[in-house]
Amino acid sequence: MIILKDLTLENLFGDEEVEVDCPSCNKTFQVEFKKVLTPNSSVECANCGQEIVINHDETTEKSLKDADKSLNEFNKSFDKLEKAFKKFR
Ligand SMILES: [Zn+2]
Repeated sequence: MIILKDLTLENLFGDEEVEVDCPSCNKTFQVEFKKVLTPNSSVECANCGQEIVINHDETTEKSLKDADKSLNEFNKSFDKLEKAFKKFR
């Protein structure tokens, strides 16, 4: 269950697996999303052990930033809602 508070990309999708292409052995392997969430994070190829630095292209970067912003807005609204409910008591 997702607790509707302090939503971040990491706790929403952190355990999802994404595919990474290894430039060294050309194999595709899967890593957890949280490991590539930050630009320039590095992962190790599951096949050949090559260290791969993950660069986000502009589209990815923008999507991540937008999603992050939306989640922040959501968290703020949720806080306000929570405060409003407390007033009724
Ligand atoms: Zn490799």
